[in-house]
Amino acid sequence: MSHITAGVKGRGACSNEKVRFEQWQREAVHEDVGDEGEVVAPAKTSVVIQTAKSIISRNRSPDVPFDASINPIQGCEHGCVYCFARPTHAYLGLSPGLDFETKLFAKQNAAELLRAEFEKRSYVPEVITVGANTDPYQPAEKTLQITRALLGVFEDYNHPVSIITKSGLVMRDIDILSRLAEKQLVKVHVSVTSLDAKLSRTLEPRASAPRRRLLAIERLTDAQIPVGVLVAPVIPAITDHELESIVRAVATAGAKSAGYVLLRLPHEVAGLFTEWLDEHYPLKSKHVQTLLSQMRGGALYDAKFGERMSGTGPYADLLRDRFRLACKKHQLNLQRVSLRTDLFKVPHRGPQLALF
Ligand code: SF4
Repeated sequence: MSHITAGVKGRGACSNEKVRFEQWQREAVHEDVGDEGEVVAPAKTSVVIQTAKSIISRNRSPDVPFDASINPIQGCEHGCVYCFARPTHAYLGLSPGLDFETKLFAKQNAAELLRAEFEKRSYVPEVITVGANTDPYQPAEKTLQITRALLGVFEDYNHPVSIITKSGLVMRDIDILSRLAEKQLVKVHVSVTSLDAKLSRTLEPRASAPRRRLLAIERLTDAQIPVGVLVAPVIPAITDHELESIVRAVATAGAKSAGYVLLRLPHEVAGLFTEWLDEHYPLKSKHVQTLLSQMRGGALYDAKFGERMSGTGPYADLLRDRFRLACKKHQLNLQRVSLRTDLFKVPHRGPQLALF
């Protein structure tokens, strides 16, 4: 049963499910602070340190542009109310609501497992996306440094990696990222939803503020690291008026490519999002839901491959055209950055192979 905790300060979801999680052992590893260091919520975040058994996930969805991914932490403290990864927390016996953003599970041995994968004789290199489901630079990464350790392994083996984040913390790793970029082994995707800091604080409360994400794009670009932007998600009547200004801002900051994803509301996310709308935009809530259902064949969400990322119908077509036009105007998406898989080398095995 859902119990409303409307407007929990510093959290995205307004509600939670009563679930059992007593079998987990928790360990707090960082203070309950926001991106700028301020205390933002009375609710505590807990992080369980786990020993994972495997590290690379495989995706077979035909409309997702990668097959292999790593998510160093399950759950995401950034707490974006629209997060399509929320339902995965139910597999842990936890709520996709507040639990998803407060009860996290960290794969402390991620780098060790990745190294073991690369050492397998049968391993075939392909681009691995870090952060496909949850953000690899969420606040716990500041102290855990699991993503940084993973980058070290990618570098040791000359293995290509693609990163997706909504956090300025990615700037901490510019040293490794720029060395990977020199060999065409990395691309970073920064997700920018809105340029409105006030909206961002309620919509994605612990992700970096928009200006910090723009700064990250700028710093990464200055370091010759290729940066793409995901305007994700686009929310009709809440953020869609910003499409052109976001494209202009990210292009000015140095991004070379951009894509967008229409708001997706799988499973419990639909209820969490409409609750958020009612809480923060009571007068617009119905209108937003009507526009969404116009683009989703009459429902709030339609998971059909090929349509779930951008929707259908006149409003969806208009968004697509506006986005294309804005990208063209700001010269985005002119070239595709391909990462190299041919440089992959198991360090201690390299010289041995060279003997033959
Ligand atoms: S940053 Fe990404 S993974 Fe984290 S809550 Fe937001 S959308 Fe979900």
